[in-house]
Amino acid sequence: MSQIEIKKIVKALNASDGAGVKLKRSIGTPEADYIDPFLMLDEFGSENKDDYVAGFPPHPHRGIETVTYMLHGQFEHEDSTGSKGRMEPGDVQWMKTGRGIIHSEMPAMAGGKLLGFQLWINMPAELKKNKPEYFYIKGNQLGFYKDSEKIVKVIAGKYKDAEGPQNKHNVEPIYFHIVLDEGKEFEFDVPEGHNSFIYLLKGELEIGEKSHDKTSNSSLILLKRGNKLKIKAKKKSEFLFIAGKPIGEPIARGGPFVMNTKAEILEAIQDYNNGTFAKY
Ligand code: MN
Repeated sequence: MSQIEIKKIVKALNASDGAGVKLKRSIGTPEADYIDPFLMLDEFGSENKDDYVAGFPPHPHRGIETVTYMLHGQFEHEDSTGSKGRMEPGDVQWMKTGRGIIHSEMPAMAGGKLLGFQLWINMPAELKKNKPEYFYIKGNQLGFYKDSEKIVKVIAGKYKDAEGPQNKHNVEPIYFHIVLDEGKEFEFDVPEGHNSFIYLLKGELEIGEKSHDKTSNSSLILLKRGNKLKIKAKKKSEFLFIAGKPIGEPIARGGPFVMNTKAEILEAIQDYNNGTFAKY
C-alpha cells in the first residue's frame, strides 16, 4: 500500500470557449495537457450574465466523453440524436460522443449565478467509432453519503455504500464531489494504476504525508500514483476528486475532436464539412 502524494499544483487559467463563455481551464493547458484518460477540465462560473449568456451554440464532437456537472443555474441541451433536456443544479449529463455528435449547450436563465464543470474523458480507439450514447442523471440519482464531518456526492465509482450511476465503464472512473469540515479527514482507497487529481473549489487541503505548497481556490492538484488517499481540511473545504484508468494510446487533438492520429482529425473535419459527420 502506498500513500498518494501531490505531484503538482496548477492554478486554473482564464479562458473563453463557445460563443464567448468565460471559464477557468485546468486540464488541457500547457501545464496539464493530458492526464490520461482526462483531456480537459473547465469550470464555468459567474454571477454576471454577460460572461455566459452567449452559451455554446451547435458544435461537433468526436472521440471523447463529456461529463457536465451543474451546481448553480440551468442549461438547455439539444443534439443530433434528437436528445433534448434541461440541466438543473445538481444534475449531470454524461455524453459518449463516439463517432460524432453535434450539440448545443445554452444557458436557460436570464441572469443570476452560474457554476458548473465540464470534464472530457478520452475514448480508446475501439470505442471512438461507436454510435453516440447520452446519459442524463438527475441530482437525486447520484450516490450520496453524509456523516457529521463530510458530504460525498458520487457521480462515478463508490464511496462506502454510496454508488454512482455511471458504472461498467472502460476507464473505471471515480468522480466525487466532497464537502469536508475544518480539521476533518477524508480517506479513500484508489485502484492501483489510476491517474487522479483534486479540483479545489473552496478552502485549503493537506494531502498525503509530505509538506507541500499552499492549495487555494480553483486549483488543480495533480496526484502521484498510489492507492491510499488521505486528505485533511485545514479549513472547511469543497472539492472534486476524479480518477481513472489510463488508456495509454497516442492522441491527436483537433479542437472538439480527439482521435489517435492527425489523419483521423482531418477525416473528422472532412466528414463535418460534407455533412456525413453525425450519420450512423
Ligand atoms: Mn460541447
